[in-house]
Amino acid sequence: MTDTIPSLLPVPDDGWSRVLCIVAHPDDMEYGTSAAVAAWTARGIEVTYLLLTAGEAGMAEPPDVVGPLRAAEQRRACSEVGVENLLILNHPDGMLEYGLALRRDVARAVRTVRPDAVVTANFDFEAYGGLNQADHRAAGLAVVDGVRDADNPWVFRDLAEAEGLEPWHVSALLVAGHERPTHAAPVDGAAVTAAVASLNRHEAYLKHVTGHPKPEEFIPEILRAGGAQAGSDHAVTFRVFDLGGLGG
Ligand SMILES: [Zn+2]
Repeated sequence: MTDTIPSLLPVPDDGWSRVLCIVAHPDDMEYGTSAAVAAWTARGIEVTYLLLTAGEAGMAEPPDVVGPLRAAEQRRACSEVGVENLLILNHPDGMLEYGLALRRDVARAVRTVRPDAVVTANFDFEAYGGLNQADHRAAGLAVVDGVRDADNPWVFRDLAEAEGLEPWHVSALLVAGHERPTHAAPVDGAAVTAAVASLNRHEAYLKHVTGHPKPEEFIPEILRAGGAQAGSDHAVTFRVFDLGGLGG
């Protein structure tokens, strides 16, 4: 066994001040990725979450009940990992459409938050051991494109002209939950505990999912597997795309 030799590079987050995490639903950040967020916020990096939907179609109760409930649970999840800035858009859960409207919303958020890096979740056709969910595919694609749109003064010109949001260049795009990661963010025990707690805060949602394992039973395991590739006890793995300026 050569598992003591790290196979993944450390996430080049040394000079980062702000990270923007963009996902489709409440809880998408809480299946391990929020451990990296806890580690970043502990170091003083400001992390913002942008949820493209309110997750209102994810439970048995009607959407007008579930939307506010899941927003409240997400707010509590954010508190566990030091995230104060939570933005939730009202694109329809389960019917998220890739297109210019979604790209514009991503670009608007990027120009507003002005992050060094953007984090999103795996948007491959196959992911998480099966077929990926439709909203996840649409969200990821819109994030990839919207991050670039944010940097182009000739795309969505009204963002600058009407809203005063000037172009912004993001250095790196990190895709969490990817089967072919390139980098890892080592995390300490406190971050692992915070990540478990953050998923536990989605209390009503977890109760709704039949047979959902307890977060403490599998989140540390995911992070341990990441650690084995990073040469540390625990780590969050990412596929990192250098958009120019990374580590520069
Ligand atoms: Zn999701």
